[in-house]
Amino acid sequence: MAWGLKLTGIEDVQEHEQDLNGDVKMDDTSGSDSDYTKYWIDWFLSTKGNEYFCEVDEEYILDRFNLTGLNSEVQHYVQALDLISDTLEEELDDEMREAVEKSARHLYGLIHARFIITSRGLAKMLEKYKKADFGRCPRVLCSNQQLLPVGLSDQPYTKSVKLYCPRCEDIYNPKSTRHASIDGAYYGSTFPHMFFQVYPHLLPPKSNERYVPKIFGFKIHEIAKQHRWQDQQREEQQRRITMGNEGNNINT
Ligand SMILES: [Zn+2]
Repeated sequence: MAWGLKLTGIEDVQEHEQDLNGDVKMDDTSGSDSDYTKYWIDWFLSTKGNEYFCEVDEEYILDRFNLTGLNSEVQHYVQALDLISDTLEEELDDEMREAVEKSARHLYGLIHARFIITSRGLAKMLEKYKKADFGRCPRVLCSNQQLLPVGLSDQPYTKSVKLYCPRCEDIYNPKSTRHASIDGAYYGSTFPHMFFQVYPHLLPPKSNERYVPKIFGFKIHEIAKQHRWQDQQREEQQRRITMGNEGNNINT
């Protein structure tokens, strides 16, 4: 459950081999509480609900320049950063540990938003996009187009993450409640648009195909359009008649 459990079992990590994909195998030990992993980021990424996150490069996190300003946005910043980079040596009581864990998740999210608009980050998100890790557009005429996460705001605690479809250029709520509660600021408002600036060849072709609503086979739009045109003509005519009656000759 908590990272505390995982941290205390860190001496035993040699038993846990990492496979080539960076996935940590956890099935080689007995007991359900033994799902600790070597690295905090691996643990974070393997947690259910965190599938939209990519792995931020260690070098990126360790370069202080990349984290400018985040210290004022995250509580327990120093410990949270140490926890993320697996260098937390301080003994913390349960309450403090929980607070630091929470801060670490928030800090990782904020770093993630910055990282995914770098070329390395975009490349990592590209791999996830190809695998449709963010799901596919629910719109029938978008033919299962893969989606990309997007924030509606760059400010944390304002809006949860949405999914952007490059084909219909609309946004959708994630299907799972776990994903729907992720802070949109962990992806940012720029990401998907930067993505297609860098990979323009991946932009799906725009289709003019539209769903046409019909009632008993008649197109509703056309009837409505015709009605609007008729109303307009009637009003116009009425106006001309009134003006004629008043003897106005403005429109010669
Ligand atoms: Zn779509």
